[in-house]
Amino acid sequence: MQKRKRKALTKPKTIFHLISLFPEALSSYIKESIIGRALADNYIDIKTYNLRDFTKDKHKRVDRIPYGGGPGMVIEALPVIKAIESAKRKAKSVKREACIIWLSPSGKQFDSKEAEKLSKEKNIIFICGRYEGIDERVREIFKTESYSVGPYTLTGGELPALIMMDAISRQIPGVLGNESSVEEKRISSPEVYTRPEVLIYKKKTYKVPDVLLSGNHKEIREWKERKRKN
Ligand code: SAM
Repeated sequence: MQKRKRKALTKPKTIFHLISLFPEALSSYIKESIIGRALADNYIDIKTYNLRDFTKDKHKRVDRIPYGGGPGMVIEALPVIKAIESAKRKAKSVKREACIIWLSPSGKQFDSKEAEKLSKEKNIIFICGRYEGIDERVREIFKTESYSVGPYTLTGGELPALIMMDAISRQIPGVLGNESSVEEKRISSPEVYTRPEVLIYKKKTYKVPDVLLSGNHKEIREWKERKRKN
């Protein structure tokens, strides 16, 4: 089947601003597949800000020992504040304020509903922490929304930012192509099959469920709905 060619946009629908100590950690993932194409076709844009570019320290150091003691280092407030200001300046052409996301294992659980809500934003600024986190005073200065991608602690906010960006992007109309994001809500299924119809592995036969080969769209839809609820 020939793929329908998608029209590139003149202006991105959403611009993601990623503030991080390791922005390069994100680069290979965002170049690939659906996100890569959404970037190439200008449905989304991604701007990165390296915290080391926002310090006056001659060694480009932005982490210090925590007040009150503790094992890890803490990222200073000022470079983060300056990076946010820089991202906000880039976003200032739009009337709506940029949404600032503070990534934290104790933030609000991110899910599909939140992704859909955030997909309506024009500018989203992700603040990726490292080590023990970022000086809390940044949150006194800027209004932020705190999100967690799950009940576990990762070493940095770059993977959470990627996860959120991916989930948000696929909710942006046109990113999945042919409005299939809307279609997906209607008929997506956690169990999917493709060729061959009969798979033989270690002398055992594995078949595609009959209903999917039946051509009966109503029954297929009902089967998918049942699977989603299981
Ligand atoms: N000391 C922090 C605490 O107790 O909440 C944990 C810091 S964690 C090692 C370093 C950074 O990784 C955090 O600042 C945050 O940006 C990111 N991070 C780690 N786990 C995360 C999660 N589950 N969801 C979102 N961000 C997370």
